[in-house]
Amino acid sequence: MTERRQSVTVLGSTGSVGENTLDVLARHPQRFSVFALSGHSRIDLLFAQCMVHQPRFVVATDAQAGPLLQSRLAAHSSATRVLIGHAALDEVAAHEEVDMVMAAIVGAAGLSSCMAAARAGKRLLLANKEALVVGGSLFMDTVRAGGATLLPIDSEHSAIFQSLPGDRSLWPSVVDKIILTASGGPFRTRDPATLRDVTPQEACAHPNWSMGRKISVDSATMMNKALEVIEAKFLFGMDPSRIEVIIHPQSVVHSMVQFVDRAVVAQLGVPDMRGPIAYGLSWPQRIASGTATLDFSVMSSLTFETFDTRDHRLRFPGLQLAWEAMAAVSGTTAVLNAANEIGVAAFLEGRIRFDHIHAVNQTTLAGVSFEPPASLHDILALDARVRARAQEAVAALAH
Ligand code: NAD
Ligand code: MG
Repeated sequence: MTERRQSVTVLGSTGSVGENTLDVLARHPQRFSVFALSGHSRIDLLFAQCMVHQPRFVVATDAQAGPLLQSRLAAHSSATRVLIGHAALDEVAAHEEVDMVMAAIVGAAGLSSCMAAARAGKRLLLANKEALVVGGSLFMDTVRAGGATLLPIDSEHSAIFQSLPGDRSLWPSVVDKIILTASGGPFRTRDPATLRDVTPQEACAHPNWSMGRKISVDSATMMNKALEVIEAKFLFGMDPSRIEVIIHPQSVVHSMVQFVDRAVVAQLGVPDMRGPIAYGLSWPQRIASGTATLDFSVMSSLTFETFDTRDHRLRFPGLQLAWEAMAAVSGTTAVLNAANEIGVAAFLEGRIRFDHIHAVNQTTLAGVSFEPPASLHDILALDARVRARAQEAVAALAH
């Protein structure tokens, strides 16, 4: 078999998902080649990745980091071309020689490049859930119009995708509900009254997954699950009333689908992002991912808790915002995401308390009025306006 190698752009290659993606790609050099990489900070790592993977292009989104990277690569006679700035992300996502784009940038900063890949009909591997939460139905319309293939990388959504029938046209008639599992993060059993004292370090210490700082804080507030509920609505065309969250502290059951006959199909594995990444890269086939084998001797202790208890509602008030945002006018999920990005950044910078993140989200959701966005331009304008409002909410709370 001498099939052409698949050419892959990895956006956000210096992040946690980006590094895991390069790990999987390196296991299959006959199958994949790296076309482009991108990074915003950690230029040493981006340089090292270029030396190993020899991409055609590398995008340095931070203007100061670009020239530094350029001179280091030139000193090593590297053939990799450096592109600087965010517009270059769209270029390497939509380039005609690219087959697949791994979207592993964090936050709405990744939206434009996702849309570019969708428009160009690529296989789009979506880890960057904020892009879909912000882009919403416009994102999905662009995927359809561009003839792109959108595959989930978020472990829950990959599990759901693996549990659903391959024939999409069956989904509306056979699925009763989607059950997203949530680990509960580092504060699942913490006294809700003490959440105000949480430090960034505590919030980033996830019990099961090692991830970037933004998603780690989101896991601690459960805003990550709120974003994932919205992601599921758009990805699977699911009515919000048919999406449920259940707490499963061991993160072995990655999520489940309940069908109309009440059969429940789940996908299991050790918590390792290389599993869903390899599935996205190889679908509908499967390839080795480097993930460890599930040890069934430890499976006797799998547990599940309903989310709907008084203490959990106090610990995780943000989860409910997902359904509120989905019920409101189109564009409200973008508002929620922008507020949350600002709140999380302010918490990580030590400007506001942990419980203030929810306050920023609530105040911003209640305080912004807007027309439903009709284009990417409208969405980006709304995102920018909401960020300014959320900064005001932060300033009012800051110590
Ligand atoms: P990370 O912080 O480790 O990496 C983020 C990447 O995006 C880095 O390469 C960084 O340089 C780049 N980046 C950051 N800000 C940027 C900007 N303004 N412009 C351009 N590039 C920028 O994050 P991560 O944990 O790898 O998560 C990436 C995405 O995948 C997030 O949307 C997250 O929710 C999602 N995700 C992550 C995991 C995980 O296990 N880490 C699991 C599921 C989903
Ligand atoms: Mg997830």
